[in-house]
Amino acid sequence: MTSEERRARLVRTLELNGIWDRRILDAIGRVPRERFVPEHLANEAYEDRALPIGDGQTISQPYVVARMTELLDPQPGDHVLEVGGGSGYQAAILSLLARDVVSVERRPSLADAEAARVAELGYANVRVVKGDGSQGHAAAAPYDRILIAAAAPSIPAGLAAQCAPTGRIVAPIGPRDAQVLTIQHGDGRVERAEVVQFVPLVGSGGFPE
Ligand code: SAH
Repeated sequence: MTSEERRARLVRTLELNGIWDRRILDAIGRVPRERFVPEHLANEAYEDRALPIGDGQTISQPYVVARMTELLDPQPGDHVLEVGGGSGYQAAILSLLARDVVSVERRPSLADAEAARVAELGYANVRVVKGDGSQGHAAAAPYDRILIAAAAPSIPAGLAAQCAPTGRIVAPIGPRDAQVLTIQHGDGRVERAEVVQFVPLVGSGGFPE
């Protein structure tokens, strides 16, 4: 099977699992996930599960990427912040759906690899920033959409302050062992979706290392 065929099969799996937004399914169908995982795991890239990317971190499960993107509902003109860039896969998906993406990654080796990968694959509207994103990235605020791709005990106040009044934040909120996907709207409304398991957000707005 070619990687395009594997991707198409993954898209069908996501549809069967309830992902309905065509734009998101199309984006998943276009981004070569095998380029975002370590080479020796390339043959597992289109299984619907998280995979290790080094430094004890993971690339999220495709279903969770799709679901969080659906809850985030990025619009074509949106300026998006992602906290926890990891492999850059989620940022690549967002880059196809929004105007631009600032992706903050705290581990230097992952941030360097992420920046090189998104540049090589031509996602020119993704900018990788190295550092602690648990209080956001004030230099490029405000953002229309903020996605936290790591588990946090609550939505850090610094991040909430960088969200536009008409915007929203999507994040896995809860203790280290399990979290609830949470949507916090710019007007203060909060909604909750399914339970997930993310690696911790480490830093002033997250968990201690
Ligand atoms: N979105 C990623 C998966 C992220 S895994 C992908 O698509 O591959 C969570 C990532 O958050 C890890 O790479 C971890 O290093 C990073 N992280 C944890 N705390 C952080 C912080 N305070 N600021 C920025 N990145 C952080």
